Amino acid sequence: MSFTIAIVGRPNVGKSTLFNRLAGKRLALVDDQPGLTRDRREAEARIGPYDVTLIDTAGLEPGDEGLTPRMRDQTEAAIAQADLVLFLIDARAGVVSADEIFADLVRGSGKPVLLAANKCEGRAAEPGVYDAYRLGLGEPMPVSAEHALGIDLVGEAIEEAYRKYREGEVIVEGAHDEEELEHPMRVAIVGRPNVGKSTLVNALLGEERMITGPEAGITRDAIAVELEWDGKPLRLFDTAGLRRKMKVEEKAEELSVGDALRAIRFAEVVVLLLDAEQPFEKQDLQIADLIEREGRGLVIAINKWDLVPDKDERLEELREACLRLLPQIKGLNIVPVSAKTKRGLGKLMDAIFTAYGLWNRRLPTRALNQWLGAVVDAHPPPAVSGRRIKLRYMTQANARPPTFIVFCSRPKAVPQSYERYLVNALREAFEMPGVPIRMHLRKGANPYAGQD
Ligand code: GDP
Ligand code: GDP
Repeated sequence: MSFTIAIVGRPNVGKSTLFNRLAGKRLALVDDQPGLTRDRREAEARIGPYDVTLIDTAGLEPGDEGLTPRMRDQTEAAIAQADLVLFLIDARAGVVSADEIFADLVRGSGKPVLLAANKCEGRAAEPGVYDAYRLGLGEPMPVSAEHALGIDLVGEAIEEAYRKYREGEVIVEGAHDEEELEHPMRVAIVGRPNVGKSTLVNALLGEERMITGPEAGITRDAIAVELEWDGKPLRLFDTAGLRRKMKVEEKAEELSVGDALRAIRFAEVVVLLLDAEQPFEKQDLQIADLIEREGRGLVIAINKWDLVPDKDERLEELREACLRLLPQIKGLNIVPVSAKTKRGLGKLMDAIFTAYGLWNRRLPTRALNQWLGAVVDAHPPPAVSGRRIKLRYMTQANARPPTFIVFCSRPKAVPQSYERYLVNALREAFEMPGVPIRMHLRKGANPYAGQD
């Protein structure tokens, strides 16, 4: 069975038209009137270098409104059979409630999904493309199936999804945040050798050690232990276990970047463990930077706090040092702990859960745009070559980490300092200290606005 793509969406958004475009032949019926009965259609198609199977999930009954049981069954069957769902909306109509119902079906399936906003020829489609972001299925690709616009981009996205599928790292873009929150949170403790990672892992595990062993399905040799904290399940990357497994008898002088990366990629939240007596060494800063670049939630824990004489004074110094040395992640939480005496573990876990919550956060579009209006008024972007840059609209494209897209007149002309200003102001306004925030500047959402 070749890689199978189901084109899914409510009636009349243009699924069959897109199916025909992708299949390259006029295989499915297309009609102006919603309400034409059709069967599910399949076609073999070639996308780039790959042979794929396309499924068109049309098939509504005359007079049907919304989602009938038959449509639901058919759509669900197609999704179940698919390796990839291509979800389509009508950008001229915007997101309507039936789109949301269909989007829920797709999300519930956990299948990888691409989102396309159809009927994008012309300006009328622009608001609908913005609207599509709130389906939470990732970034919409503007297309016009009828006018053959954007079809190449859809093809490229399919190729990319196919490659990921083949590599076995299927990314579930549209999975429900709530569902993801039910999974054990994945935490890694990283730091230089001898800062106390194994001692901390053991202290956290205490008597609660439940399962130890290689984890299927994460990475082949990642070793995780599971525990519960206040009734919440979490999965801890066991650095010591990894070391045991690799039969490294003597501790390395340096933490290998490969090991750190493995732990960071495993985790959703990373605890960077520092030694109170030698905090913020060059290597510590490099690891912090790596965590930020990988977009993970970050908590800094200062270990061996039992050895520190003037604790209040020292903590104040460390907070200042953190702000100065890691300006890219403002508001990072610093938690003093002693793995040896088991002090501060509760506060550390609180900080981890807080970082996780913020990392998963989704901000409402309306609040974001109100905020954008206000920050731009307070501090407008500079004029470049005599012309002001206009920031038009903003939306959150993704969580984990929070990722935002700002649409503006000339994205390339916006200075980096202004981007930093926006990120920091956003972090402050929506209280997201210490969270890596991604912000992308884009020209209008619809490149085909001038085509009608
Ligand atoms: P389906 O029910 O989702 O399969 O939708 P169809 O493919 O049957 O298309 C429904 C209607 O939308 C038809 O009238 C198509 O001609 C029209 N349509 C499809 N693609 C486009 C497009 O890119 N632009 C415009 N303006 N109309 C389109
Ligand atoms: P790892 O290499 O980061 O896993 O570090 P270990 O957990 O093996 O600890 C290195 C050394 O630091 C050991 O001698 C530990 O006993 C000691 N150590 C770990 N945590 C603490 C702590 O909170 N206080 C003190 N005083 N020593 C600690």
